[in-house]
Amino acid sequence: MFCPKCGIELPEDAYFCHKCGVKTSKGKEAGVSAAREDLKEAFAKVGEEMEKAFSVAASEIKKGFETARKEFREALSRATVTCSHCGYENSADARFCYKCGERLN
Ligand SMILES: [Zn+2]
Ligand SMILES: [Zn+2]
Repeated sequence: MFCPKCGIELPEDAYFCHKCGVKTSKGKEAGVSAAREDLKEAFAKVGEEMEKAFSVAASEIKKGFETARKEFREALSRATVTCSHCGYENSADARFCYKCGERLN
């Protein structure tokens, strides 16, 4: 027996082509319902939902990263170095005290 659609050789008792999924004349005779079609649809639906869920998760993760990065930058900009000489709080990237010129570590 050969597939009516793609022509591949099939076992005599095949109800469906294993390559293209088309129902064989034997399958039609037997009145087999194409469960595979339902499955395919169900899988496609699940796939869509998963994709949606994944893209939502991805954007949430991205948002999380952006928030963390922003917070990190803010924390960095808030960080200060206290001058050991005069006690003035210089910004973290200052190498010398703004007030007294003392070298900062
Ligand atoms: Zn086929
Ligand atoms: Zn100082």
